[in-house]
This record gives sequence, C-alpha cells and structure tokens, in this order.
Amino acid sequence: MSARILVVDDIPANVKLLEARLTAEYFDVLTAASGMQALQICERAECDIILLDVMMPDMDGFEVCRRLKSNPATHFIPVVMVTALDSPADRVRGLEAGADDFLTKPVSDVVLIARVRSLTRLKMMTDELRMRALTSLEIGVQAPERSAVADTGKSGRILLVDDRPSSYERLAPLLAIEHTVDVEINPAEALFHAAEGNYDLLIVSLDLDNFDGLRLCSQARSLERTRHVPILAIADIDNNTRLLRGLEIGVNDYLLRPVDRNELLARARTHIRKRRYTDDLRDNVQHSIEMAITDALTGLHNRRYMESHLATLAEQASSRGKPLALMMLDIDYFKSINDNYGHDAGDDVLREFAVRIRKSIRGIDLACRYGGEEFVIVMPETDLHVAGMVAERLRRSIAGEPFSIHKGARQIEVTISIGLSTLDRKGEAVGDVLKRADTALYRAKHDGRNRVVAEAA
Ligand code: GH3
Ligand code: MG
Ligand code: MG
Repeated sequence: MSARILVVDDIPANVKLLEARLTAEYFDVLTAASGMQALQICERAECDIILLDVMMPDMDGFEVCRRLKSNPATHFIPVVMVTALDSPADRVRGLEAGADDFLTKPVSDVVLIARVRSLTRLKMMTDELRMRALTSLEIGVQAPERSAVADTGKSGRILLVDDRPSSYERLAPLLAIEHTVDVEINPAEALFHAAEGNYDLLIVSLDLDNFDGLRLCSQARSLERTRHVPILAIADIDNNTRLLRGLEIGVNDYLLRPVDRNELLARARTHIRKRRYTDDLRDNVQHSIEMAITDALTGLHNRRYMESHLATLAEQASSRGKPLALMMLDIDYFKSINDNYGHDAGDDVLREFAVRIRKSIRGIDLACRYGGEEFVIVMPETDLHVAGMVAERLRRSIAGEPFSIHKGARQIEVTISIGLSTLDRKGEAVGDVLKRADTALYRAKHDGRNRVVAEAA
C-alpha cells in the first residue's frame, strides 16, 4: 500500500534523509521547507501523511499542526511530529496541537516505515469513507467535519485489558478523569467484552501473564464488531520487536512504561476523536445509502432500487432454476381520496398501506413504491399459484379493515387492484415481466377493481 508523504523540515539534509528512506520503500514523497509551504500543499489535498519537523523558523511544527487540525479541509490528514525533543512534556504539547504520532530524531528506519504504513492504512480507509460521504452532502446529509474539529476527545468509552494490579490500579483512575473506563483482567474474556461494549478505544497491555496481548489485538482486528476500534498497546521498554509486529497487525499506537500520565490522556483523546470522526463518516455513508434507495414517505424501497435489484433477483432465479413472481398493486380511486379528504389523508393511506404490505410478505420478498400510489412486490422462489394466494390475502387485508385518516378521527374504505406475472423464460428482460404484471393490473381495473388478476397463460 503506497501513499504520498509530505516531509517538512527547514534543514535540507534532514529532508533528503527521510525522502531517501521513504522512496526506497516506494512511498511517493513531496517536500516543503517551511510551515507556510506545507499548509499550502495540504490545503490543495496533495498528500496523505505529513512528517513535520518541530523546530522551524517563522512557524514551528506545533503551530502548523494546530492550523491543519482546526481546518475542516485538512484536519483528517495524519501528522507525525519529527522531533529532537523527547520529553513527555514535548509529546503532550504535540498531542495537544493535534499530532497523531511522533518520531524521535535520529529516526530509526524500522520505526519510521512501521508508523507510516500503519497511518497509511488508516488514512486510506478514512479517504474511502470521506469520498462516499461527499455524495451524502449532495442529498442534504450534514458532513461531520465541523463536529470533528470541535470534538475534545473526552468522555469516551475505554476498555483496559491488563492483569497486573500495579498497572491497572494506576492507569484506570487516570483514564477515568476524562472517560468511562472498564478494566478486564481476564484476557480470555477480553475479546468478548470488547465486542459487546461498544468501546471507543481498547488499551491492551502486551505484558500479560500467560497470554499473548498481540493475539488479542489481531483477533480484535478481524472481528467485525471490533475491527474499527482503535488499539493502544502498552509495553515494557525492551519490547521493541513486538511493538513493531503490533503496528503491522493493526495496533494503532503504543506507549512505553512507565506510562506518562499526560501523554496517556492526550493519546487517548486523539484516538477517541479519530474514532468518532470515522464513525460519523460511516453513519453518514450508511444514511445516504439508505436515503438513496428508500422512499421517504413509506420507508419501502424506491423504484430505482427495485429496478436494479430485480435484475439481480431474476438472474439468480434463472441460474438456480427457481420461479420468481411479481405483483403490481395500485390503490383504487386514490385520486378521489385526495380530492375528498385532502392530500395529507392520501399520504396517511399510503403509509398505512406500506405497513400492511410489510405484514403480509416474507423477509426475502422485495416491496417497493413504484410510483405515486403504485407498488411492486417481487417474490423469489414463488410460483404463480402461491403468488395468487399471497395477493388475495393482501387484497383482503386492505379491503377488510378501514384506514385511519385525520389522526384517527376518521375511517375510510380503501381497496386495491393487483396484477401478477412470473419470470418464465431464462434470460428474459425484467422489463417484460413488469410489463405483463402491468397488463394484468390494467385488466383488474377494467374488470371492476378490488381484485387480483394473473397474467394470461
Ligand atoms: P385507479 O383506480 O384507476 O387507479 O384511479 P386512481 O385515482 O387511483 O388513479 P390515478 O392515477 O388517476 O390517480 C392517482 C393519484 O395519486 C393522483 C396523484 O395526485 C396521487 N398521488 C400520487 N402520489 C401521491 C402522494 O405521494 N401523496 C398523495 N396524497 N397523493 C399522491
Ligand atoms: Mg390508483
Ligand atoms: Mg395510478
């Protein structure tokens, strides 16, 4: 997985060094000699990750980072501070400015590549989500950028997996200053606990008794419900190889013991903030997908979705040699319901009609609102005879019980007419199946309405 990395440093020799190492690993490298230049490059969205020197004249790395992270257009670009300063206080300063990660000069090759790779993975996923979420903007779903920039990263839900009392008795109360913390001292239970608890962050000790903390991390990565939860590993200082292995399998970040209190809090906030942002993006995408395929009034699928999905269902039916039935339904004299009781009453009828449709079909059936007061139901693995019984039952459920309008103040009689058809030839165009159902529906109307008519044999 490659990415474009922006290296920012005022000293040309430092730039050259990082550039050479990254290029050797097939990363695409851009460079900037000042903070201002870096901001311009980021604003034009030309890079995936930034390696940012802290000490620069004019504008230092902290300030560059702060500006990137407070701008909705650039806040999602991961920033790695590259610094000769290596006290926890400096790291905390960087984290407060919004930095995602740190590298200490002189930068170790292995650590550099491991961190850049791990951030690349995360960035690719976020980019994919952001791209899809852009579509939702067009249909009026609010983008989460603004709330992401304002998020403090506090009040998260954290699961701490640690079996050493001396360790968790110190860490848990610390984290509890800003978050809700659960401690799991039994590593064998941890995965289950993590999957059930809807956490924003997992903190995993890699020094568990009789249990490989990395195995837990990798299991958490492959389990659907924990896949996107960030993992912060805590390790003893001599555990470098294991930490690198951790970054490879999807651990997002690590801290070495003795854990600095402020750094722990700052890192937890950073991850929680990122987690909430990607979660919002994901919801946003989900919501826009739903909006794009759903009819807003009835909650049934819309015509566009039905037409594309019908083709898939028809192919499946043909290739498996199974029948497929299609029902086209139309409310009788619906125009007069609108005319007599008002448009809102008409809408009430449409909504209630959708509810009754849902009640009388199976989960694998596809119901959609095809147009104004016309609906289509596609029934896989159903022949004309069975479809006829379902249609008749549905017709009776409409005609047999009046519909409430005007907030329940009035009841009116409603009837429907139904036309039925089946997919009868392999590879037949679905449009033809629809057309035959429509023709049958027309006959049902013509023959007096409130009835079911099947296509002519
Ligand atoms: P028929 O028995 O032949 O089907 O007669 P009909 O009156 O039901 O059919 P027609 O196609 O003449 O009228 C359909 C009416 O449905 C006209 C249109 O204004 C109304 N309609 C379409 N969409 C909506 C909607 O979303 N809400 C409401 N209230 N009415 C709608
Ligand atoms: Mg009608
Ligand atoms: Mg009509």
